[in-house]
Amino acid sequence: MPDLSAMLERGPVVCAEGYLFECERRGYLQAGAFVPEVVLNHPEVVEELHREFVHAGSDVVEAFTYYGHRQKLRIVGQEDILEPLNRQALAVAAGVARQTGTLLAGNVCNTNVYEPGSSAVPQVRAAFEEQVAWAAEAGADMIIAETFSWLGEALLALAVIRDAGLPAVVTFAVHRDGTLRDESRPEEACRQAEQAGASVVGLNCIRGPRTMLPLLERVRAAVSCEVAALPVPYRTTEAEPTMQALRDPARGGAQAFPTSLDPFTCTREELGEFAAAALALGVRYLGVCCGAAPHHIRAVAEAVGKVPPASRYSPDMSKHSFLGTAPDIAPSYQDYAARL
Ligand SMILES: [Zn+2]
Repeated sequence: MPDLSAMLERGPVVCAEGYLFECERRGYLQAGAFVPEVVLNHPEVVEELHREFVHAGSDVVEAFTYYGHRQKLRIVGQEDILEPLNRQALAVAAGVARQTGTLLAGNVCNTNVYEPGSSAVPQVRAAFEEQVAWAAEAGADMIIAETFSWLGEALLALAVIRDAGLPAVVTFAVHRDGTLRDESRPEEACRQAEQAGASVVGLNCIRGPRTMLPLLERVRAAVSCEVAALPVPYRTTEAEPTMQALRDPARGGAQAFPTSLDPFTCTREELGEFAAAALALGVRYLGVCCGAAPHHIRAVAEAVGKVPPASRYSPDMSKHSFLGTAPDIAPSYQDYAARL
């Protein structure tokens, strides 16, 4: 069976995330509600996306159970599909992972009802327990506990995962002010997650490459375990450090999140440069979150020295009819290139 620690000993591990955004973009999931009904209604779409991400270099097939938890399904009046949705997501992911020799990851995430010390804490724990149990039954190699902005909620998820005896990747979502909601600094949260038994700790979602990188340096210095970095592929800035903060000047300064982020999308080169920079810091579990497409994943994989199947089709502009330099390109067309 594939093993996360063994894989990380051999080299960097790439993990594609961002299934919610991509299924929404493809027309199989509703923005706003953001419930992964596609898993039941169109499992072939989810399977194909898993395959595309693996083809592009993802070493991990993450079961699409993000927001497939009891609290979220209750909000949309679909609590009855909770268990079938989770089991189906795990079965679809397992099929691809076992065929491709990649890691099968279960997934738990922010519940959006957690508050420190609140009466919701027992139901949050119960929600993690049922999702982790289904993942364990499906033979998950690891569990990704992601997008937490409460340290306490992440530690709760981690405790449940460790009780199930599975390796855990714990990643925090860092909003505008650079701290978590309980005001702990990301590096302190990661240090505590490491101490509580996470195999990999780090950051995912919310921040783009440019505004995640400085935080990663601090996380790397604070822990001794492997560090994860999975930014969103959007051009966040010092002034607008998160995808929620981005305002589009071409649309009167309207908030771009979540369905109008297109003009802020990073190029594949930017994701590759981010991955190389993060690797240079010693961050060895790399990926892309909401907004990720296969060309981003391939760029990350190639930047850390991998040659995924999709690299067969990586760009070679020397063959281009106007911009190329290959011997068979007509010189008159090369000359015309300046007028394109
Ligand atoms: Zn995300």
